[in-house]
Amino acid sequence: MENKNLLAIANEFGSPVYVYDSSKIISQYNRLSDAFKEVKQLKLNYAVKALSNLAILKLINSLGAGLDTVSIQEVELGLKAGVKPKNIVFTPNGVSLEEIEEVSSLGVQINIDNLSILEQFGTKHPDTPVCIRMNPHVMAGGNSKISVGHIDSKFGISIHQIPHILRIVQNTGMRINGIHMHTGSDILDIEVFLRACEILFETAMNFKNLDFIDFGSGFKVPYKSGDIETNIEEFGFKMTKRFNSFCKEYGKNLTLGFEPGKFLVSEAGYFLAKVNVIKQTTSTVFAGIDSGFNHLIRPMFYNSHHEIINITNPEGKERFYSVVGYICETDTFATNRRISEITEGDIVAFKNAGAYCFSMSSNYNSRYRPAEVLWHEGEAHLIRKRETFNDLIKNQIDIDIFSKTKETVS
Ligand SMILES: *Cc1c(COP(=O)(O)O)cnc(C)c1O
Repeated sequence: MENKNLLAIANEFGSPVYVYDSSKIISQYNRLSDAFKEVKQLKLNYAVKALSNLAILKLINSLGAGLDTVSIQEVELGLKAGVKPKNIVFTPNGVSLEEIEEVSSLGVQINIDNLSILEQFGTKHPDTPVCIRMNPHVMAGGNSKISVGHIDSKFGISIHQIPHILRIVQNTGMRINGIHMHTGSDILDIEVFLRACEILFETAMNFKNLDFIDFGSGFKVPYKSGDIETNIEEFGFKMTKRFNSFCKEYGKNLTLGFEPGKFLVSEAGYFLAKVNVIKQTTSTVFAGIDSGFNHLIRPMFYNSHHEIINITNPEGKERFYSVVGYICETDTFATNRRISEITEGDIVAFKNAGAYCFSMSSNYNSRYRPAEVLWHEGEAHLIRKRETFNDLIKNQIDIDIFSKTKETVS
């Protein structure tokens, strides 16, 4: 998208606003499926939690992807977007047996990540095939909050517990139709990831009735120029070769699955905000915008880097800014950032705002969540209205018991 398109959207729909460029989502999807075109059966399930607007789910489903979900509400959003239950996988962590049973009854593939639920589910529903989430104990990814494959992780069933899984399968007569791993975000080293895949292949040989192996996600996208990203083409080439040879060994063409979230939507997103105030202090120049970590928490939560450009004055002389929000506690988006000169009222654009941005937003400080706009084939479509005061109070119950007290006092 060009700056002038973004600026026109900020003018039309107001700020702050999230904008998603459909062409980037489509090209990322094509890039990933092309990298694995030599695999006979490939299934890409988009991780809904990254960005769950119905329009996005419809777009991604129209490309041929299924969905990876972590809550029954995400499943319901997928169904509402018209995704068929058989194209949805449910990969929750720590949810109740009841929720898993309810999702399973909708015809969705379930993925179980602990022995206790596996035993209970298998006992009650021996005829429903399930996938199991393994923990290969391979450390991939740099951020401890998003790295989920290590030894102390709460995710998955340890590969050291395979004998216990097999005993449950035998005792209940249940069928395991898939195995899964998701080692966490930010795969920097393809070899490390492939090592985890080897562990999964070894695990797979214990199960004779598999239909698919799901390798999760963790594809790293660039946040700034010079950033390392997962080399999808190289990864696809190496993984395809290995997967196809594994299928021969296994004696069946299995489906190769991935669950990309960030990879599909991160770079498609822009977050636009208006600069309310320029404040010079003794040590820095702050640019205070009409938003905060209530709308974009990743810099405060994960120390993530989002490039910021002044789209009102993109060619201006560059100066150093600390870009901060309006929340009443430390609320910093960026420090010492070179941005072309900002005047109060300018619109700034945050890049990589497609994944885990709107979906992690809140009403903290009683602010409205922003609008969302989809840019598709040269046209802007509003896909979520900005909230209003009514959204803040619609579930609150105004109990009228204090006014009385006040009356008696006065
Ligand atoms: C969050 C999640 C994903 C997506 O991860 P990204 O880094 O956004 O690609 C995939 N699978 C599972 C099980 C997840 O929880």
